[in-house]
Amino acid sequence: MGYSGLRLIKEALTGHKGWGPQWRDASPQDAYDYVIIGGGGHGLATAYYLAKEFGGARIAVLEKGWIGGGNVGRNTTIIRSNYLLDGNEPFYEFSLKLWEGLEQDLNYNAMVSQRGILNLVHSDAQRDAARRRGNAMILNGSDAELLDVDGVRKMYPFLNFDNARFPIKGGLLHRRGGTVRHDAVAWGYARGADRRGVDIIQNCEVTGFRIEGGRVLGVETSRGYIKAGKVGVSVAGSSSRVMAQAGMRLPIESHVLQAFVSEGLKPFIPGVITYGAGHFYCSQSDKGGLVFGGDIDGYNSYAQRGNLPVVEDVIESGMSLIPGLGRARLLRGWGGIMDMSMDGSPYIDKTHIEGLYFNGGWCYGGFKATPAAGYCFAHLLKTDRPHDTAKAYRLDRFMTGHMIDEKGMGPQPNLH
Ligand SMILES: Cc1cc2nc3c(=O)[nH]c(=O)nc-3n(C[C@H](O)[C@H](O)[C@H](O)COP(=O)(O)OP(=O)(O)OC[C@H]3O[C@@H](n4cnc5c(N)ncnc54)[C@H](O)[C@@H]3O)c2cc1C
Repeated sequence: MGYSGLRLIKEALTGHKGWGPQWRDASPQDAYDYVIIGGGGHGLATAYYLAKEFGGARIAVLEKGWIGGGNVGRNTTIIRSNYLLDGNEPFYEFSLKLWEGLEQDLNYNAMVSQRGILNLVHSDAQRDAARRRGNAMILNGSDAELLDVDGVRKMYPFLNFDNARFPIKGGLLHRRGGTVRHDAVAWGYARGADRRGVDIIQNCEVTGFRIEGGRVLGVETSRGYIKAGKVGVSVAGSSSRVMAQAGMRLPIESHVLQAFVSEGLKPFIPGVITYGAGHFYCSQSDKGGLVFGGDIDGYNSYAQRGNLPVVEDVIESGMSLIPGLGRARLLRGWGGIMDMSMDGSPYIDKTHIEGLYFNGGWCYGGFKATPAAGYCFAHLLKTDRPHDTAKAYRLDRFMTGHMIDEKGMGPQPNLH
């Protein structure tokens, strides 16, 4: 069933009785050409593009819980293409272009809102770094504008410009960045994949791999054994645990990242702002809540909840940037498990086991990557060659010395 304005009017006049489920509740079959493990944004997008762009085949997505229960429904919804390094920026620009056409492509309202993202700068050195990154973005076909302090003041007059420990000196504005309603992305890709014949199987946990002679033959699941031609793993925060079942140890640590929402307020933040002197970022949802977050909890964990010291740290940073935040009530907070790689950049690669492919290490930036990660992973699964924009995301880059150290922080996930 297609969605359209006409359809909406018809349903409104007939008591909304004609809407069907958005995807089938599929049961596992004995065998598939492609099995994708993980029904988050990346797994669903992979299945969608495999079915749509790379020729029909029998495809299943296996999800241990429910669609939208992982990080795809837990993130702070920011999309952007404002990276510095060659290994990253073309990939994220490709992703942003896919976001720009996504709602038409999926026939689904994902509330893509290119409201702009502003990275504040607080020193001359930071301004130089922002200018360099802005130039790299423009050279890769993205957009960037360097604002002076008056330019920032015009957009965000309520920030703490002069009395703060780190006064605001300007900012790097990326107008095409913004936000997308995160769970609608999961539902939209699920519906799109289902319409192209993909089986989306919820409550189906992968518990092991059957591997013989260096080749993967299928997966053991809580709902029985499933044969597979090729297996793609896209399980974000659970990457280390799932790949350990295939005997692999990954250059990934899992940490919790928390997010917070305030009570609903009248609209006053037009875009996304990030604080350059502490780990804090904020936007305002269409319901009026301030959506914000900061640093990861600095210890390894698979728990989907964080601890109070980071809550205190995020709120402190927020209040030093927006003093008025102290008068808003915090409505809720939650956590998700981050697959932190050792250089802050992801992997989309084959493994040494024939037929087993891996997509992960997205740290806290994988939501914006969803369309391109899905597309590039589907490309790799189908052709056995990396997509042009994802060539650098190799698993062996620490052995060959080709790290993509975007944030310049080295092998410390808690500092990324
Ligand atoms: C608080 C927070 C804020 C964030 N903010 C942003 C942001 O603003 N912008 C941005 O770009 N990124 C952000 N991120 C990161 C982003 O959400 C993730 O990098 C991205 O969603 C990961 O990909 P995914 O959607 O496929 O993950 P998930 O939705 O986590 O999907 C993985 C799925 O695999 C399933 N799974 C795990 N093990 C198994 C198994 N054994 N068998 C079957 N299924 C299994 C899980 O249940 C899960 O549903 C944020 C993350 C968090 C937690």
